Amino acid sequence: MPRILVIEDEPAMQRGLRDNLEIEGYDVTIEGDGRTGLEELRSGTYDLTILDVMLPSLPGFDVLRQARAAGVTTPVIMLTAKGEEIDRVLGLELGADDYITKPFSLRELLARVKAVLRRGQSATPAVSAVAIGLLTVDFTAYTAARNGMDVEMTPKEFDVLKHLWEHQGQTVTRDQLLSAVWGYDDSLSTRTVDNFILRLRQKLEPDPGHPRHILTLHGAGYKLVL
Ligand code: CA
Repeated sequence: MPRILVIEDEPAMQRGLRDNLEIEGYDVTIEGDGRTGLEELRSGTYDLTILDVMLPSLPGFDVLRQARAAGVTTPVIMLTAKGEEIDRVLGLELGADDYITKPFSLRELLARVKAVLRRGQSATPAVSAVAIGLLTVDFTAYTAARNGMDVEMTPKEFDVLKHLWEHQGQTVTRDQLLSAVWGYDDSLSTRTVDNFILRLRQKLEPDPGHPRHILTLHGAGYKLVL
């Protein structure tokens, strides 16, 4: 029996979704809050998640972003508000598999659920598009976006960010970054690395003067935290 996780806070919507999905033979779990929904999505085994955008404690986009960043590949259908085109674009960019606009008919929702389940695991590989700070980065395609808009990045900027990404949570020294990204080139100094870090912070940090994602460890190097 396919297992569906519904992350939605409105009681009437919770009841309607549960009743109708159960009639169709799905095993339904409901979470009414973004944070607990994310925990359940990360720890449980689900074939599909139906995720509302407007949620208490953690918005649906952040649930999706953090789940994908953590490697969760469960397909996601987002419930977006009427007329919110940006929601649709952002949701798909962050790795949603489909979206449905409120108010929707149950017949439409069930058709979407069946279609996404038929496609199986998410078409968006977790490692292809990742969320780092404000950026959604695709290291395979060398593209980056912020709030649905393309962000210009040089190949070397991608390489520096990718190296940090691959070592997230660990201290990476300037020398490690130099040899990983530029190879052994005597003409470059660790100052080069610092300049790239400054540019990356401008692009992905909510407040570049007070970095929360690319941290400086004085005398040691840099550390990426999500
Ligand atoms: Ca809601």
